[in-house]
Amino acid sequence: MARRKIIAGNWKMNMTPSEALALVETLKPLVNNDDVDVVYGVPAIDIVPVVEAVKGTNVKVAAENMYFEEKGAYTGEISPAMLVDAGVSYVILGHSERRGYFYETSEDINKKILKAFEHGLTPIMCCGESLEQREQGITMEWIRQQVKVGFQGVTADQAKTAVIAYEPIWAIGTGKTATADQAEEVCKGIRDCIAEMYDEATADAIRIQYGGSMKASNCKELLAKPDIDGGLIGGASLKAEFGEIVNYNK
Ligand code: PEP
Repeated sequence: MARRKIIAGNWKMNMTPSEALALVETLKPLVNNDDVDVVYGVPAIDIVPVVEAVKGTNVKVAAENMYFEEKGAYTGEISPAMLVDAGVSYVILGHSERRGYFYETSEDINKKILKAFEHGLTPIMCCGESLEQREQGITMEWIRQQVKVGFQGVTADQAKTAVIAYEPIWAIGTGKTATADQAEEVCKGIRDCIAEMYDEATADAIRIQYGGSMKASNCKELLAKPDIDGGLIGGASLKAEFGEIVNYNK
């Protein structure tokens, strides 16, 4: 089955609302590619203006996080219903920065993934190993654990629509990219894990992105790999270069 590529930006904690609108305008003529799904993962405060600004285009908006409760006394958190009402389609969950700086566990991320599906949001679940884990040779074991816990209770039909982003921590924001072979090896390992947890049809349908210093100069080689269905892009999503990545096949 040919999976549709998904190219998503992760703006992280960048772009004030007015800067966000300026970036959307800059990117508007550059991100037209009917062959791929294009997503902007934006800070919470930018969601409403960015959803408005991309109306009528091919771009969908992702939140960078979400809480797993419906509503109530959770100061500072954002609920799934708020995201849906604001026009959000995807939610990035379990980014290594959230796991690392904000102590999110795979169990927390699992609760968020289940809640996202309940509300019709598509989760982009991040996973990835540290340099130490790679050097210890436990990369795949670690990632399989992240995927298994993250997807606990997720049905096959839900998993088919999900996105997993493989992001080696040592490659994020460092300028060091995993080689296309390294990235493919792990993305294939994730697909095999999904096949074991569910079945071949689910493994065939789920989309697996690579993230970690993906840029215009290396995206073609990465996106040519059979198990890499797209990219989650940090630094290069904040500039015109993002348009080159979206148009990697042109
Ligand atoms: C990310 O934060 O998801 C990421 C991949 O960042 P960068 O592209 O800057 O390495």
